[in-house]
Amino acid sequence: MLREQSPLLRAIPKVDQVLALPELTRLAEETSLFAVTAAVRQVLDSLREEILAGQYGHTPTSTELLPLIEEAVKQRQQMGLRPVINGTGVILHTNLGRSRLSKEAAKAAMEAACSYSTLEYDLEQGKRGKREVHVEHLLTRLTGAEDALVVNNNAAALLLLLSSITAGRQVIISRGELVEIGGSFRIPDILKQSGSILAEVGTTNKTRLQDYEDAIHPQETGALLKVHTSNYQIVGFTQQVALEELVALGQKHHLPVIQDLGSGALFSLASCGIEGEPTAAQSIQAGADVVTFSGDKLLGGPQAGIILGKKACLAPMKQHPLMRALRLDKMSLAALEATLRLYRDPREAFARIPTLQMLGCGLSTVRARACLAQTVEKHSQVGGGAVPNQMLPTAATALQPQSISVTELEHRLRLGNPPVLGRISKDRLLLDARTLEDRELPMILDCLSRCLGECS
Ligand SMILES: *Cc1c(COP(=O)(O)O)cnc(C)c1O
Repeated sequence: MLREQSPLLRAIPKVDQVLALPELTRLAEETSLFAVTAAVRQVLDSLREEILAGQYGHTPTSTELLPLIEEAVKQRQQMGLRPVINGTGVILHTNLGRSRLSKEAAKAAMEAACSYSTLEYDLEQGKRGKREVHVEHLLTRLTGAEDALVVNNNAAALLLLLSSITAGRQVIISRGELVEIGGSFRIPDILKQSGSILAEVGTTNKTRLQDYEDAIHPQETGALLKVHTSNYQIVGFTQQVALEELVALGQKHHLPVIQDLGSGALFSLASCGIEGEPTAAQSIQAGADVVTFSGDKLLGGPQAGIILGKKACLAPMKQHPLMRALRLDKMSLAALEATLRLYRDPREAFARIPTLQMLGCGLSTVRARACLAQTVEKHSQVGGGAVPNQMLPTAATALQPQSISVTELEHRLRLGNPPVLGRISKDRLLLDARTLEDRELPMILDCLSRCLGECS
């Protein structure tokens, strides 16, 4: 065996020889010599192994190896975290990064990333400032809250909040609101982690004001907590206590009332067909002492946790050692400020924030975008643990390949460049146009012709 293979091994071209190919000189100029050299080594190494495994009758020449090397360079240049085309129709797809940022927010993040900035510097005073000030004012103005604070995400907001104001004491919550959000975030676990004690009241389907009141013990109770059941709904024989009633109870017993709003709409989305989603301003208006929500769900901004409420409640959070551990970084802070600035004019927000654009996009526009091939009418999910029972009417391009199976097409598109993600339904691959952008349509056609070309 070995004797047969040794001439083949000897015929493997040297790295320098391969690198001298004009095609690779050009490729090294476009990318980097480092990447091309590494790719050549990688291809030659696997060639050696394959010859030893008896897979070759003759040794390929440098030129014959060229396509393999070009492919290896491409793979090396590719980021692990990279853009995909979302044809799933799920607007806030947690696995695909939830909200896309507006151009304004992306630009602000980029500038904060590439320049020194006023992150913690007060230009007028000429001395150290606070990073939160950039968004606090916008948040209080937009929601009517007394004070505001931002952290890394909503999970961090709750952890900081509970650690600061209820540690060692009971937090009373309805059994119907003990939410689990995807990826292991569970309200009971967060409570425990904060050092607070869970006091669940009522039943899964019905909780009354009296249940809360009966559980209050003057020395032991730290707060009343209301959690928005953002990713599920209990229907049928149900009853939950309205925030206003809980606020009255809290005031009677001098207990803070906290609301985890989850998705955090800043204004009503009824015009997009999303009914009944509470807004942050409504919760503040109803008298909640503290309200928390995510920056990258219905708000359509960067990952962030937003805390609104009374000054007296937020003060201990600002002083807490966890604040430093959970604080928001400068790029997200800049993106959040830019997003909130758009909200000063609701029309601007709807026109520029992609999440709101997609939610508000009329069916006729979605239909027109779906017209790549045969279209079907479906419903898109909002996703991201927001409004689970509300679906938006949509249109999807339905692909039914003749030469390969639908699962094979799904597979090829998913591994393509850029990856295109859809969903299979009734032996067709659906690309939901609500989450697609017009500029992505030619890219999808390109990807499709490559995928289908491979089989002919
Ligand atoms: C999504 C959600 C969270 C977690 O928010 P993150 O920003 O993902 O940390 C917490 N509570 C509720 C009710 C939610 O919907």
